[in-house]
Amino acid sequence: MTTWLGLAADDLFGIDHLPYGSAEHAGGRRLAVVRIGASALDLTAATADLAVEHASLFAGGTLDAFLAAGRPAWQQVRALLTQWLTDEAYRPALEPLLTPVDELTLRLPFCVADYVDFYASEAHATNVGRMLRPDAEPLTPNWKHLPIGYHGRAGTVVVSGTEVRRPTGQRRAADGSITFGPTQRLDIESEVAFVVGAGSELGSRVAVTDFAEHVFGVCLLNDWSARDIQAWEYVPLGPFLGKSFATSISPWITPLAALDGAWVQPPARDPRPMPYLDDSGQPSGLDLDLAVSLNGAVISRPPFATMYWTPAQMLAHLTVNGASLRTGDLFASGTVSGPDRMQRGSLLELSWNGTEPLTLPDGTERTFLEDGDEVVITASVPTRRGRIGLGEVRGRIGPAIG
Ligand code: CA
Repeated sequence: MTTWLGLAADDLFGIDHLPYGSAEHAGGRRLAVVRIGASALDLTAATADLAVEHASLFAGGTLDAFLAAGRPAWQQVRALLTQWLTDEAYRPALEPLLTPVDELTLRLPFCVADYVDFYASEAHATNVGRMLRPDAEPLTPNWKHLPIGYHGRAGTVVVSGTEVRRPTGQRRAADGSITFGPTQRLDIESEVAFVVGAGSELGSRVAVTDFAEHVFGVCLLNDWSARDIQAWEYVPLGPFLGKSFATSISPWITPLAALDGAWVQPPARDPRPMPYLDDSGQPSGLDLDLAVSLNGAVISRPPFATMYWTPAQMLAHLTVNGASLRTGDLFASGTVSGPDRMQRGSLLELSWNGTEPLTLPDGTERTFLEDGDEVVITASVPTRRGRIGLGEVRGRIGPAIG
């Protein structure tokens, strides 16, 4: 299957991928887009011209209506796009609706409803436990029984490229004094996030086997974290202002349908998960290879396939108490860290709580982020025929709020 755009076989945005987004033209018009190669196809215009039965899904210029339409509509549109972009007969109508991605401003592709962040990497949870609770078991007693998570702040989820201002708040200094000021321990958390399309009824549960009926797709997420603010505030109710100032996501939402070749068996689980979390009958882990760059230098390559809890288990746990899902709900995996040092997904772990600075190629050292630093997280994924890329989530640190 090849496209008339004449892409290289190893293009990370080839015909097997087709991720969706929302963009703004120079004139200010919002349009829903699908990416092919280095171009974005204007779905708002293309459906109005060629597939009027789907036009209402994209008329708003975002993905909201499309997400809400559910899996049959997701499948129909993907089949249609595949036909359009591979059949030369559609070229004259569609070519004028293609714009180089570089010429568009990418916006948050959907309205984020609720945002939940999990803590599903055993290596990450173990590293954090060892650093912060050196005299106790690294994993808390509940960790292997349920996917731990917390509800975050949906309104401060921002699209890749948005400047992240250094947050200010209360910290406790080493001598025990309580101070107020800009965070001195600003960190990243390299994560994978899942976008809910079809909601669920209040009082019902979503089974692990119904994951693909509700989850539309996947993107990358950076859960910016102010470690000093977090450390002082988090007992007893968990993360609050140390994380709520900004959470960045990548602008392209890769549909689950593009991940057919990426499902793998997750690590062995012991103890055996409760029946509502039992996903042993299916390959429910995802083989995504992340790469984290700081000021252009790769500092880590976290492997998502090592995650202890799978996205289907996260969704089942999120709804086991009868909590409903809404279109636009976003849930993230938690920091992705592998067992090796170069696979750690946060500076907290890479610098071992600030005690082992990283040396960057320009000779400077980092424990946590400085103003002007830029972090980029990317990921690539195997397909049945090659690889696709999840794009990037990029953020530069701006000065503290005055
Ligand atoms: Ca996190």
